[in-house]
Amino acid sequence: MNPLDTLAALFDGEGAAEYFGEAVTQAQHMLQAAFLAQGEGASASLVAAALLHDIGHFETLTAHHGGSSGAELMSGTDNRHSVTGAEWLAGWFGPAVTEPVRLHVAAKRYLCAVEPDYFGRLSEASVHTLSVQGGPMTPEQATAFAAGPYAADAVRLRRWDEAAKDPDLAVPGFEHFRPLLADLITAQAPPVRAS
Ligand code: FE
Repeated sequence: MNPLDTLAALFDGEGAAEYFGEAVTQAQHMLQAAFLAQGEGASASLVAAALLHDIGHFETLTAHHGGSSGAELMSGTDNRHSVTGAEWLAGWFGPAVTEPVRLHVAAKRYLCAVEPDYFGRLSEASVHTLSVQGGPMTPEQATAFAAGPYAADAVRLRRWDEAAKDPDLAVPGFEHFRPLLADLITAQAPPVRAS
């Protein structure tokens, strides 16, 4: 299947599921994140990363990767959804899309370490998962993280992630982003792994 049709089907299907105790569905959450990114004039790659950042929560992917689901994350097992999502997306997209996705959980741990008031902005569910994901970074970890080439993009994505849980914010659907995604797809890229 065309990867864009695959993604559209995921948004329409599993995306309609509840987003772990938040007031929006998983699809609404990711669409809001992308909408906020676009509103701030982010690059196409970073808008795509925002749109797809939590795709690793979808059980379709976690099943392929032998990982655990979002429900298991909430019950105390780190499902490494950022890694699962980034690896899956690397079949079609380059690092400017996949690296902010991979790093968006680390960016939460980073922001909680370097911004004293950041923790207070996390939703209840996000506070819960923070502890499962390793808690705030140490100063040494934060310094090392910030030196990475995609750290700044991951931090921007993380701020949209926090803001994209608004039940009253109506945003465009997946099709709005299809042309942007189509331009980014590196059709020749081999899948990262056979599945
Ligand atoms: Fe998210």
